[in-house]
Amino acid sequence: MTRLILASSNRGKLAELQGLLAPSGYELIAQSDLGVGDAEETGSTFIENAILKARHAVRATGLPALADDSGLVVDALDGEPGLRSARYAGRHGDDAANNALLLQRLREVPDAQRGAHYYCVLVLLRSASNPQPLIAEGLWRGRILHAARGGNGFGYDPLFMPDGHTCSSAELEPAHKNAISHRGQALARLRERLAAAGV
Ligand code: IMP
Repeated sequence: MTRLILASSNRGKLAELQGLLAPSGYELIAQSDLGVGDAEETGSTFIENAILKARHAVRATGLPALADDSGLVVDALDGEPGLRSARYAGRHGDDAANNALLLQRLREVPDAQRGAHYYCVLVLLRSASNPQPLIAEGLWRGRILHAARGGNGFGYDPLFMPDGHTCSSAELEPAHKNAISHRGQALARLRERLAAAGV
């Protein structure tokens, strides 16, 4: 098993990425389990924040790190919550408050205009001085429901109905979500890049 640090303390992401990477021989360790705190996300794009997080974790641990920066982008809200997805309602990681605020902001918005997508960018940085991180993206289209459904997943999953489905992403089995989600797509691309780079 190759050890990789996950540059996040988000347990939902850890579980999903662990499930996706284990078959390829990677063991993912959360930075918080090694006493490493979260990086400051001062970038103005997902990719900048992912690189900041990966570099922070590599510097703190000396091990290769994988960072995920992701979020929900809602058409009718001009891309909100976007970069602020984790702290939309104010407190970082308060999923219930974030979902309540999203529903409130979309209260008057009809079904046809409730389109949205999840976006994920993954950055794998092998050392602090490596100028060539491996980068991969994924995008998952769907729309925002009027009420929460389902208990799987995390974050906005109870409110997100993926295109081609009649349930929320919190009603999908974890393996099913992993196979088709923005994170699953990004990871499939990252695996191809790892193989091409001979890592
Ligand atoms: P980050 O930790 O700064 O990348 O914030 C990502 C945030 O986007 C999470 O805290 C969730 O609110 C949201 N998010 C990203 N991916 C997902 C997903 O797969 N399901 C539900 N919410 C997600």
